[in-house]
Amino acid sequence: MKTQDKILVTKATLPPIEEYIEEIKSIWDSHWLTNMGDKHKRLQSELQNYMKATYVELLVNGHMALEMTFQASGLSGEVITTPFTFASTTHAIVRNGLTPVFCDIKEDDYTIDTDRIESLITEKTTAIVPVHVYGNICDVEKIDMIAKKYNLKVIYDAAHTFGEEYKGTGIGNFGDASIFSFHATKVFNTIEGGCVCFSDELLGKKLYNLKNFGIKNEECVEAVGANAKMNEFQAAMGLCNLRYIEENIEKRKKIAKRYQELLSEIEGITVWKEQECVKHNYAYFPIVIDKERYGYNRDEVYDKLAEQNIFPRKYFYPLTCDFDAYKGKYGGDKCDVARKVSKSVLTLPIYPDMNEDVVDRIYDILIEKR
Ligand SMILES: *Cc1c(COP(=O)(O)O)cnc(C)c1O
Repeated sequence: MKTQDKILVTKATLPPIEEYIEEIKSIWDSHWLTNMGDKHKRLQSELQNYMKATYVELLVNGHMALEMTFQASGLSGEVITTPFTFASTTHAIVRNGLTPVFCDIKEDDYTIDTDRIESLITEKTTAIVPVHVYGNICDVEKIDMIAKKYNLKVIYDAAHTFGEEYKGTGIGNFGDASIFSFHATKVFNTIEGGCVCFSDELLGKKLYNLKNFGIKNEECVEAVGANAKMNEFQAAMGLCNLRYIEENIEKRKKIAKRYQELLSEIEGITVWKEQECVKHNYAYFPIVIDKERYGYNRDEVYDKLAEQNIFPRKYFYPLTCDFDAYKGKYGGDKCDVARKVSKSVLTLPIYPDMNEDVVDRIYDILIEKR
């Protein structure tokens, strides 16, 4: 079986090769490969514009963006978050010496259940780290209210929401900071990469410093930093890919609409739906399978699709609190909704140049199963 016959959950977007070559040519003149060069500066300013963000700091990847932002924000003690996320969110919390306190999610959009946050707050709590899941945005207004009431920081894992807007505001403008991932598999990529959006200038200075070993100048190293700089080749890829972002989101939207049109009629399968007041990026297309009503469980559907060379993902499964690395350490047993969704969700293939026929093939397989 040839790999190119396989339909995977996503396919990295690349600009025309000539454009990338053109963009990197100047690197051979300057010999400036990394350390905040010209491409880094240009991408930062273009993203600030596109994302309608006050400030943007570029980083080597989304994970380090999370780690550096937690460190720069001076968090300590406990952080309220959800286990229905990618490994990165929980790892970044734990690797900063913080304790994750797991809050359950809502059944309709899989984001943090704001009605359950307050009961988890203790005198040790310093922040809330909510995740905008699959491009669904959290209840940002309610989270803001709770954070103000208890004087907590809010740092969004916004890795799934590049290019999104809520009521016309760039999604990176909520909370104290929002982190984005520009990994190859995401809606917008810089090969590997990420950024932080924020409005506090001082936070930006700290991030800039931390991503370069905490070096202030040749003779002064003022913080325990790391190396998390985005290099010029990454930034060049970003500059090229950014030219196609709106076109690519439009193409994704067409695929999503086709999925909605066909799969919505299948009894026992809940399809992803747009939220009100949100400009979506159509990054993922999750379906939730109710075994009672559909007749087969998620794993059986996964196998059936895999037999036909279509590879969706059990994303997010398992919950991060159930990882071998965390089992029994930080609780999470009360996250019943998250556990139920995690066992029944499947994210279907979606990417800009995906053939719409794939959607029809998936529909045929799902309907034939009954
Ligand atoms: C991709 C992702 C990350 C990590 O980003 P990288 O760029 O891969 O380091 C963090 N959180 C979520 C929810 C993600 O999907």
